[in-house]
Amino acid sequence: EQTHGSCAGCGITIQITDAKKPGYAPESALGRKVVICQRCYRIKHYNEVAPVGMGDDDFLKILDGIGSTQALVVMVVDIFDFQGSWLKGLPRFVGKNPILLVGNKVDLLPKNINLNRVRNWMQHEAKERGLRPEDVVLISAQKGLHIDELLNRIGELRKGRDVYIVGVTNVGKSTMINRILHDYGAAELEITTSPFPGTTLDKIEIPLEDGRSIFDTPGIINRDQIGHMVSPTDLRKITPTSRINSKVYQLDDGQSLFLGGLARIDFVRGERQPLIVYADNDLYIHRTKLEKADEVMEKHHGTLLVPPTGEEAAKALPPFVKHTFKINKSTTTTDIVISGLGWVSIQGKHEASVVVHAPKGVSVGMRKGLI
Ligand code: GDP
Repeated sequence: EQTHGSCAGCGITIQITDAKKPGYAPESALGRKVVICQRCYRIKHYNEVAPVGMGDDDFLKILDGIGSTQALVVMVVDIFDFQGSWLKGLPRFVGKNPILLVGNKVDLLPKNINLNRVRNWMQHEAKERGLRPEDVVLISAQKGLHIDELLNRIGELRKGRDVYIVGVTNVGKSTMINRILHDYGAAELEITTSPFPGTTLDKIEIPLEDGRSIFDTPGIINRDQIGHMVSPTDLRKITPTSRINSKVYQLDDGQSLFLGGLARIDFVRGERQPLIVYADNDLYIHRTKLEKADEVMEKHHGTLLVPPTGEEAAKALPPFVKHTFKINKSTTTTDIVISGLGWVSIQGKHEASVVVHAPKGVSVGMRKGLI
């Protein structure tokens, strides 16, 4: 059978026989300099969502190959959703290969954030998860920030070997690679990017000058991501697209804050103190009395408390579960992170008890304040 190469957008093998199967491209498209499959064409030009054709097993096969080759592994995470964007199980696959950890979307972080602290925190979190990266680089693929630094570090750490780029879907891997291609003057080789998970379908190879290659791997879907519990439209509403501005709420005990209809923070006990919210700037935040919070939720979930948009969408969410936190009196701030939605920061001038309600499956945890 004749082969037609692979799609420049998602890496899948091109076929011209079955329009319903993955990798289809019309015969007329084969003559082009850069061939992309119909699915990528649609994502690119019409922003359509196409169902994902790749299962977790296919992905694991690709990852499995990394351990048996000598390569630099570049793992990309979304620093706005570190927990939700962590690629689990990587230590099993990397073997002895060095790892460079890349925190993407640095453009979203508030202005006064201490980037060194973010880097140290990421090193620490990686270690907790069994990974020991050689270094951590913070970039914005979209805004083109610190790409030179990234390329320099890749150049130093790969020591003449191949480079594998890994990460879960939506961390911005494709955007990052397009940025790299662009900076190398190879922008016509554009990889398909979209706000919908699962755009890259197979390994994409980008040749390097020394005969080695950069391989972009498909992202696996991390089912803990809040993005998999809400509609694409709602996902867009909770995903910040510009720098987050903090919002300060002076809370008394017995007060609650709703972050849209996706999380509720109860200030159960403690002296009046500021709670600083870091989330999408347009996310609706509703303050109420703790004793009325259940009722407010019951009445207004999906209508006033959005996203989820609509009562149907509200009902479709997993049931809410409680996470209890005790904040000790201390000189440093504490962040309570609600994966995918943002975080709230508490100064720790006084002791406090805080309860967070969030859909089951959304990870909620505490960390030392980043600011
Ligand atoms: P992939 O699934 O990891 O390949 O992710 P994509 O490259 O398709 O990007 C996923 C989403 O994140 C898209 O909506 C991008 O526009 C967005 N994105 C990618 N890089 C950045 C970045 O540096 N900053 C911000 N704010 N958004 C980004």
